[in-house]
Order: sequence, then C-alpha cells, then structure tokens
Amino acid sequence: MDIKYFEEQNIIYIGDHKIFGFPWRNEKCPVCGFQKIYHEEYDGLFCPVCNIWLDSECGSADCEYCGNRPAFPVPII
Ligand SMILES: [Zn+2]
Ligand SMILES: [Zn+2]
Repeated sequence: MDIKYFEEQNIIYIGDHKIFGFPWRNEKCPVCGFQKIYHEEYDGLFCPVCNIWLDSECGSADCEYCGNRPAFPVPII
C-alpha cells in the first residue's frame, strides 16, 4: 500500500484514495506502529495501514462528524 502525505494541502493519498487530514502528533498505531492520521471529514484518528479507527466516537448519536463514520476509514473498494 502506497501512502503519501502532502503537507501544504493536508492531503493523504492511500493507494488510490485521497483523504483530507494530517499526521497526529507523534502518536503511532498500537497495532502496527504506523503514524496515526487525523481524518478531517470524520473528526477521528485512524491507521491507514490497519484501516481502523484509533479513537472512540464522541458518543453523541447525532454528531455530524463521527455519527457518520464508516466502518473502515479508507474505503476498501
Ligand atoms: Zn496500524
Ligand atoms: Zn462526534
């Protein structure tokens, strides 16, 4: 999987997928050790390698951000 970060635009390319976000502090994925990424659209932290969310949702069911989170941060098709 090819992962590229373009700092000026805060864009991450993960394979063919484009996500608006940026590396989150110096925190690493506890599973694989890859840099955690902040996903702007869903207001969440995720690992692009494991394709999992790394934080919990805020708990508000009608939150316009995490209420709409997909199961996988990076679309798998
Ligand atoms: Zn990971
Ligand atoms: Zn929320």
